[in-house]
Amino acid sequence: MNCIFCRIIKGEISSKKVYEDDRVYAFEDINPQAPVHTLIVPKKHISTILDTSEGDNELIGHMFQVANKIARQKGIAERGFRLVMNCNHESGQTVFHVHLHLLGGRLMHWPPG
Ligand code: AMP
Ligand code: ZN
Repeated sequence: MNCIFCRIIKGEISSKKVYEDDRVYAFEDINPQAPVHTLIVPKKHISTILDTSEGDNELIGHMFQVANKIARQKGIAERGFRLVMNCNHESGQTVFHVHLHLLGGRLMHWPPG
């Protein structure tokens, strides 16, 4: 398997690390869409959110807690931020290893494009 996010987690591809623990790795998006654009990624390879099961609930919940922690650390918690998880082609998912986008530091528009 040649998954770019698995390779980033292993350190085979460089990244700007923001946070790491035993279950999750977070790093700066290479093509930021906002002043804050961090990706929160489970160390376990899961292709899309559709591929999760009840047994992954704790892991997925933990990803959101990590996003909260990073949002506070980066000073965007009170102003507001957006968490995005794309799934499959029409959403724009390009990397098939589940990841949560943490976006903030500017006014967000709705509906998203
Ligand atoms: P998605 O389109 O939801 O699958 O998001 C994939 C994200 O991964 C995009 O925002 C890319 O800019 C980002 N990305 C792809 N390759 C890298 C990389 N090597 N380092 C950091 N971010 C990356
Ligand atoms: Zn992977």
